Amino acid sequence: MGTKGREIVGLDVDQLIQLLNKALADEWLAYYQYWIGAKVVSGPLRGQVVAELEEHAADELRHAGMLVTRILQLGGTPILKPEDWYKITNCGYDAPEDPSVKKILEQNIKGEQCAIDVYNKLVELTKDKDPITYPVVVEILADEVEHEDDLQALMEDLERK
Ligand code: FE
Ligand code: FE
Ligand code: MG
Repeated sequence: MGTKGREIVGLDVDQLIQLLNKALADEWLAYYQYWIGAKVVSGPLRGQVVAELEEHAADELRHAGMLVTRILQLGGTPILKPEDWYKITNCGYDAPEDPSVKKILEQNIKGEQCAIDVYNKLVELTKDKDPITYPVVVEILADEVEHEDDLQALMEDLERK
């Protein structure tokens, strides 16, 4: 890691790494929730919903990569064991045991709302303190806001049918 790069962060770096690791756990669980949801979902608008879930899964995986890059730059160790995802997650995991479009949309909207809270807090924390992490969490927050909006639009289409 770059020592000077770590020095310029005006925050407790170890605490920041821990928060980024918690978000990393969320991203992997969100990735799998979308990925498996896209496989099992059934009901009206299925084709459209599958496309959206697959797109979001790819976004969550990309977010995981962005977080790991920053954790490593800060001299941290990214989560190495999947069992730790469950231990440190903020937003948890909702298994799509009921594969109906409505239930899967509800579960993922709830997940996005949690993600929006998590990244909004990271944006507030890093603003004016860490000019490198800040744009990363802003970019992820913008994606999570878009995800929530996309899923709520699908829910409205579903209800209008
Ligand atoms: Fe994400
Ligand atoms: Fe998302
Ligand atoms: Mg989308």
